[in-house]
Amino acid sequence: PIPLAQPAPRCARQARVAWGGHVVTVGGDAPVRIQSMTNTDTADAVATAIQVRELARAGSELVRITVNTPEAAAAVPYIREQLDRMGESVPLVGDFHYNGHRLLTEYPDCAQALSKYRINPGNVGHGDKRDKQFAQMIEAAVRWDKAVRIGVNWGSLDQALLAELMDANSRRSTPWDARQVMYEALISSAIDSARQAERLGLAGAQIMLSCKVSGVQDLIAVYRELARRCDYALHLGLTEAGMGTKGTVASSAALAILLQEGIGDTIRVSLTPAPGEARTQEVVVAAEILQALGLRSFVPSVTACPGCGRTTSTTFQELAKQIDDFLRAQMPHWRARYPGVEGLKVAVMGCIVNGPGESKHADIGISLPGTGEAPAAPVFIDGEKALTLRGEHIARDFQQVVENYVQK
Ligand code: SF4
Repeated sequence: PIPLAQPAPRCARQARVAWGGHVVTVGGDAPVRIQSMTNTDTADAVATAIQVRELARAGSELVRITVNTPEAAAAVPYIREQLDRMGESVPLVGDFHYNGHRLLTEYPDCAQALSKYRINPGNVGHGDKRDKQFAQMIEAAVRWDKAVRIGVNWGSLDQALLAELMDANSRRSTPWDARQVMYEALISSAIDSARQAERLGLAGAQIMLSCKVSGVQDLIAVYRELARRCDYALHLGLTEAGMGTKGTVASSAALAILLQEGIGDTIRVSLTPAPGEARTQEVVVAAEILQALGLRSFVPSVTACPGCGRTTSTTFQELAKQIDDFLRAQMPHWRARYPGVEGLKVAVMGCIVNGPGESKHADIGISLPGTGEAPAAPVFIDGEKALTLRGEHIARDFQQVVENYVQK
């Protein structure tokens, strides 16, 4: 038989990112986690808390906030307090660059209110100063029992390390491609920093790594090697993916390949929102990627054909949209009442060519009449034709059939 396609098992160590009694595990046998990042000024505690809550409600299981100034560090405990007051227990991740050592030391309330620190080894400092400043951040993580992500980015790579590797490359009889040297620098920076953090007393399981680049093929090359060389939980994402369709497609292409290979324990889709577009769009895309790969289920899926010259009117497109909107709108209360409803598969098809066949593959499906077909829409439930809908209210009637099915 033809082998079934399925994501390879992931085998990283498991980190625990906690707030209060709420624990989000990352890695090991935990589901691939969705995370995102705010774009508010962290010093504006109210605006940041509101956006954190929006992202969490959209499905972000960890939310990162930048902690870049004393004002931002001072605001973090208030952000946490407001979230707690709103009953929102999503863990907060502090994103530190350049001055993280000072902020984590001078603002202990900030260090405690965060559940995880992101440290960029590319901008912690140089030489002995680097070691001291890096140690200060790790000591804070150990003292307050926090998880850490060593987050390397090729836009802020450790230049001294890169120069050293470039120099070594120039002495090779067959020099590597410049991109391969860059890959080596990214991976070495991440793994060496993680080992250093372990020597400073941080448990290896509490360390996550990322090596972000903005090219799809580069990301694939780097993460394959990173996964081969270590078993730290991996934070996966295409950095600066861009806007709209381009960012969505590039992120999906890169992440899907790696997730299918069992690489990646938490993902972030870094989309640049169009003016007026909700920040939560990146969470929606991340969830769709995981659901499309069969790694997780968040909402029932609607299979719909694209429509063609055989579709008689826009009824078919309207019905597909209405059913999709209806299912998403029902999820908050369905999820609590009907365990497993996320896995429901609904098909909305435009004519008899593929309509009945696709509908039979779904839990519940409808095949609308195409050009020249009788004005009747057969509905299939669990693979069998169950009834036929007719008339002007097919959408409303089908919605009712779906609801009855879920309740049953
Ligand atoms: Fe066209 Fe029918 Fe195929 Fe839909 S199922 S794309 S309407 S032929």
